[in-house]
Amino acid sequence: MKNKKLLIAFLIFCNIVALSIFLDLRKERELEVVFFDVGQGDAALIRTEKGHNILIDGGPGKKIIPHLSRELSFWDRRIDLMILSHAHADHLSGLVAVLEKYEVEKVLWNKQPHDSLLYREWEMLLEGVKSKKAYRGQRVDLGNAYLDVLYPVEDYDFSKSLNESSVINRLIHDDGAVLFMGDAYKAQENRLLEWEKKCRDADYGWCRVMEIPSEVLKVGHHGSSTSSDHDFIKKVSPEIALISAGKDNRYGHPHEETMETFEDLGINLHKTFRDGNLRIQFE
Ligand SMILES: [Zn+2]
Repeated sequence: MKNKKLLIAFLIFCNIVALSIFLDLRKERELEVVFFDVGQGDAALIRTEKGHNILIDGGPGKKIIPHLSRELSFWDRRIDLMILSHAHADHLSGLVAVLEKYEVEKVLWNKQPHDSLLYREWEMLLEGVKSKKAYRGQRVDLGNAYLDVLYPVEDYDFSKSLNESSVINRLIHDDGAVLFMGDAYKAQENRLLEWEKKCRDADYGWCRVMEIPSEVLKVGHHGSSTSSDHDFIKKVSPEIALISAGKDNRYGHPHEETMETFEDLGINLHKTFRDGNLRIQFE
């Protein structure tokens, strides 16, 4: 009797393994981005053709853990690259939870400190991890795609707000691009517009990353009125714009005027609190 139970358990285990292998193969030829519904915060997972996992922000609390468990096979405990846009808890907290549970190869972030217990925990956990400062012009080669850093500049003035120091990334594939704005404000959006213009007449090393139009936009600062300037959104001209925010959050995100900007420009909105996760696949 005991052996029979063991056999059944073993067969169930084999089935799970077989299913996971199948799911893994299925994903192998795709570049995929999943924006997780983590409530009031941001978290996105990029899975590359080669099976690399890149995490951009982790959302608040530990909400990202069940999302990751569903996305990755149970033995895939590796995050090849973790990117933190900035050290506020609604972006950082989940990354701390991931650092505790997963094997993280590299971390890319703005290295701007923040006075919080969570930040100190983050610093401690980073001690055994390769950690690099993110700045304009960097490019991560993903095989059939690139991940570029558009912001901040290398000698960034850290006296500004943490939101304004957000790392801005753009994922580029032949089939389209995804722009991740972190919690950047209109001032940073305008810098991008200026730099892009500058690059039309000159060729600085960082100009290779200074392209703005993107098929998918992760809207800055959860749809707050601090961000999403009309001219900038027009320049990005996304097919879909994602607002990652919690239902009835205390900040009133997304703000009405921001919604009007997208409505004016006829851009489709995906709101995580209404529509859940958003999955983008490139083939
Ligand atoms: Zn935020």
